[in-house]
Amino acid sequence: MSSDTTFKYSATVGIQHEEALLFEHAHEAPSSINLPGVEGPVSDALHAFSRKQPAGIPGLSEPETVRHFVRMSQWNHGIETGFYPLGSCTMKYNPRVNEQLVRLPGLAHIHPDQPEDTAQGVLALLYELQGWLGDIVGLPHVTLQPAAGAHGELAGLMMIRAALDARGQQHRRKVLVPDSAHGTNPASAALCGMHTVELKSGPDGRIDLDVLKAHLDGDTAALMMTNPNTAGAFESDIKEICQLVHDAGGLVYGDGANLNALVGVARPGDMGIDCLHINVHKTFSTPHGGGGPGGGPVAVNDVLAPFLPVPRIEKNSHGYALVHACDSSVGPVLGSAGQIGVLLRAHAYISAFGHEHLHQIAEDAVLNANYVLHRLKGRYHVPFEGLCKHECLLTDEWQEKHGVKTLDIAKRLIDLGFHPMTVYFPLIVHGAMLIEPTETESRETLDAFCDAMLEIADACEAGDTDMLHQAPVKPFRRRLDETQAARKPVLVWPV
Ligand SMILES: *Cc1c(COP(=O)(O)O)cnc(C)c1O
Repeated sequence: MSSDTTFKYSATVGIQHEEALLFEHAHEAPSSINLPGVEGPVSDALHAFSRKQPAGIPGLSEPETVRHFVRMSQWNHGIETGFYPLGSCTMKYNPRVNEQLVRLPGLAHIHPDQPEDTAQGVLALLYELQGWLGDIVGLPHVTLQPAAGAHGELAGLMMIRAALDARGQQHRRKVLVPDSAHGTNPASAALCGMHTVELKSGPDGRIDLDVLKAHLDGDTAALMMTNPNTAGAFESDIKEICQLVHDAGGLVYGDGANLNALVGVARPGDMGIDCLHINVHKTFSTPHGGGGPGGGPVAVNDVLAPFLPVPRIEKNSHGYALVHACDSSVGPVLGSAGQIGVLLRAHAYISAFGHEHLHQIAEDAVLNANYVLHRLKGRYHVPFEGLCKHECLLTDEWQEKHGVKTLDIAKRLIDLGFHPMTVYFPLIVHGAMLIEPTETESRETLDAFCDAMLEIADACEAGDTDMLHQAPVKPFRRRLDETQAARKPVLVWPV
């Protein structure tokens, strides 16, 4: 960055501050803490380590430093700033009560290596959560260890692999993955030493039974599927799909990231799924994005139970224990019982609804997504007919005729005060826009978002395409070259 782009307060809009890098803020004055010089002789041994050049720490006072970071935080958009309809990500509001509970000293100050008899309370909560998750998905044996969804996928596939090996079927290493799947699915399979074969979706965006049958054979280890799939559509052939895979000697892995559409209403285990991860940071509300922490518990049926990771949280006559010994286990997949801060928030969220009211999560989430679909479907192209589940899928087909693409629509939403939806995913439709409102949004918020989407459609039809190509015009940073930013990130200062 050249010196003439140094930011000045004159660039400030209202009380929104433009923000320079810490190093650009820095002034000549020494930093805020001045340590006295060393008195007395310094040993020769230490001299070898004495600094030859200044440390390169910017000279800033404490308030200058604090303000820098707080201003940076205000450039962010989060679920507590506004609507965040990022499809497949389930960005729901995270209730304050979750935070109050996990900050209780007995939970916040616990150490993964402290003796079990001093951690009975937290083990009791985790044990209870294991049971609830098993009940919710209809797969009774649960590990809380995996640190996120993708990690759960890996742990689940390790169990599937171990189960097949135990049957003497070491040759079964093929994993079938529909082309609508999240990118983590094939990545996890590869990491587990399997190879993936892509299944082309049918014209309705669902798994095509004939395509599935054509690929099932004696080498098939598993089908990895998401239900509802990433197009927001329920795989209505699910029972037949699972039967076909089982008949071919394979197992069915369920990507449970979309559990928000089913929770309290339908159970993947009852549909024939053998193994499913649950993104607790999505379905059961933990702040997420930007890399974690998350939680990806995996629930399995009796067939896979012997292979669950250790330690297992078990209840015996003395209380709760972390049980390490199990010959058939795939071993530990994380250093402790799991990311308990995330797991305890999930416990709090589930408790707040209770067994009887959990279904309201899925029902409201599905209702909200269908409301958005209903309001937008006359103005945006809907690739797959019918009701959606917890997220709705649109494309830019009608806007593209005017030269306006999904990216332009997403960028214009930023000007209008909304985080964009997920764009260009799933890959099975051209110019995808995937909108997941979740159950925590009011009708007023949904209407405001739909009005913004309709305003964009109006602008497009009125020929205001230059404006749409330039969007966003309101934030400090305009349209960025995202490809360059991803391929050639500038990570050091000065460049
Ligand atoms: C989020 C998501 C994942 C991956 O979960 P992480 O917790 O981000 O690792 C996998 N599949 C689907 C469908 C998802 O939406």
